[in-house]
Amino acid sequence: MNKFEQLGLSESLLRAILDLGFENPTEVQEKAIPLLLAQDTDMVALAQTGTGKTAAFGFPLIQKIDADNRNTQALILSPTRELCLQITNEIKNYSKYEKGINVVAIYGGASITEQAREIKRGAQIIVATPGRMQDMINRGLVNISQINYCILDEADEMLNMGFYEDIVNILSTSPDEKSTWLFSATMPQEVARIAKQFMSEPLEITVGTKNSGSATVSHEFYLVNARDRYEALKRLADANPDIFSVVFCRTKRDTQAVAEKLIEDGYSAAALHGDLSQAQRDGVMKSFRGRQIQMLVATDVAARGIDVDNITHVVNYQLPDEVETYNHRSGRTGRAGKLGTSIVIVTKSELRKISAIERIIKQKFEEKSIPSGIEICEIQLLHLANKIKDTEVDHEIDNYLPAINNVLEDLSKEELIKKMVSVEFNRFINYYKKNRDISAQSAGERRESDGAPRDNSGAVRYFVNIGSRDNFDWMSLKDFLKETLDLGRDDVFKVDVKEGFSFFNTDAEHSAKVMDILNGIELEGRKINVEISKNDGGGRSSSRRDHNGRSGGFGGGRSGGGGGFRSDRSSAPKREGGFRSDRGGSSDRPVRRSEGFSSDRPRREGGFSERAPRRSEGTRSEAPRARRPRRD
Ligand code: AMP
Repeated sequence: MNKFEQLGLSESLLRAILDLGFENPTEVQEKAIPLLLAQDTDMVALAQTGTGKTAAFGFPLIQKIDADNRNTQALILSPTRELCLQITNEIKNYSKYEKGINVVAIYGGASITEQAREIKRGAQIIVATPGRMQDMINRGLVNISQINYCILDEADEMLNMGFYEDIVNILSTSPDEKSTWLFSATMPQEVARIAKQFMSEPLEITVGTKNSGSATVSHEFYLVNARDRYEALKRLADANPDIFSVVFCRTKRDTQAVAEKLIEDGYSAAALHGDLSQAQRDGVMKSFRGRQIQMLVATDVAARGIDVDNITHVVNYQLPDEVETYNHRSGRTGRAGKLGTSIVIVTKSELRKISAIERIIKQKFEEKSIPSGIEICEIQLLHLANKIKDTEVDHEIDNYLPAINNVLEDLSKEELIKKMVSVEFNRFINYYKKNRDISAQSAGERRESDGAPRDNSGAVRYFVNIGSRDNFDWMSLKDFLKETLDLGRDDVFKVDVKEGFSFFNTDAEHSAKVMDILNGIELEGRKINVEISKNDGGGRSSSRRDHNGRSGGFGGGRSGGGGGFRSDRSSAPKREGGFRSDRGGSSDRPVRRSEGFSSDRPRREGGFSERAPRRSEGTRSEAPRARRPRRD
């Protein structure tokens, strides 16, 4: 009997779950489903977004609905149109083997008449945003006087968005005897008030710690001078070639300006804010979901309800005015059991906000330095090498090989590799070798008056050819290194894991041992290769905060185990393909023969990078975004 069967779910739901590929119930599902199936009860569930809560209420709801009765039996309220559509889709997927169940989404910005028509055809489950729902009730287009179930999803978000009145009005027109299930990431007073007013003796379940940030998100801050904020953002993007991120700004104007600058500098970015029309916003979201946009620059309001899995980083380009908002921002990453990072670019005057946020999320930030030019170059170079290794060859190229061989025949393999890599890489080196260090003075002493001197000397930084692809995250790699090298707790530091490779530091006294032992080892049939990196990684972290706030949580690291979601990090999508600049409608456009394969005219039309400068060189336009950094 699998774990879903043990929860008491019906045959048809189990079939749908099998199709969806869910292997094990998540914590919130394990806790909520048996309770909701066993009795008609009110429930308050504290669970972050991305924990599988839609299924936690969706499965029991579907099982309880009477499919032979066409009346509306359940109402699910959710904060945004995005989420509303997502929940509707999920419920449809879950109920696909359940005959006769109709789910209808109602939300603003679409035809109210069409939505009313759909409801008239018979919708046992309505998924709605509060504003449109209230509107339809007022116009008599919907009748919820017979519902048995009401679900308030992301209640804190709904109240944050000012839907208190609407929610109260809607709940007042529904029958008292119904069951109400409230899901919320946090429990501010307003949510507690709703619970008190409209629920009777609700069962309470909590996933993770109350009011805490998700255990799958680590938090980092980078201290810079205000004038370097944008440069810092670019460097962070360059140091994370696979970044797929939401970048938060405080105002619409800043959002637009940052997005424009990024686009100008050759990044795949777009702005999302309230001055865009609904159609424009939909277009941006579609491109973001399709991974044609790598950096979505957004305001808090516009980003509410963004529900995209696999976001690797949330970047707080500016901190929000209200520290509570930070939680909503960082919750956009670390979803569905994946690990995520929430980055804050901060100036000295804002540092106290970091401590305030730490108190709210009950997790510590790690202070990090903006990567140096050398470090970025190394990362990009290795990323490029990995990309070359992984590139699938299109055999159309075979026709051209004789001619290509003719040109290159005098080069040795070594020379050829050097030249190939240099084609993409020279401009990176040229850009970064001239650029200064932009990390501001460490915040360590400022935040922790331990007076301990910084130890920036004597650290050796290594490059090693294992990374997240081998199911490592920073924590498990650190453990692996400590164990393998028989080193102490703090002897391995500044562990930075990329997809196909990683960096770490030790003090110089350990370097012979590191090189000796690691270079002789095989990991699952692959030889480990470790080299000393040119960059020292900035010595030890001044605050000695080594991600100490995170629990192992969802399948962190090599074990790949743990309950809940599939934690196999290697199943994280390979984004190399996703961000290619030959995207959009032009992706299937053949290369112009006259340009040949080594053309310096990349196929780069369409999409969001139209305004990006044309690359002056480059073997392929989709090389791993060894972007042309701008010299301004
Ligand atoms: P939610 O918190 O409901 O937004 O869910 C986040 C994501 O996790 C969605 O893409 C779900 O399809 C997925 N999901 C939900 N339950 C499971 C499960 N038991 N195993 C794997 N994925 C799940």
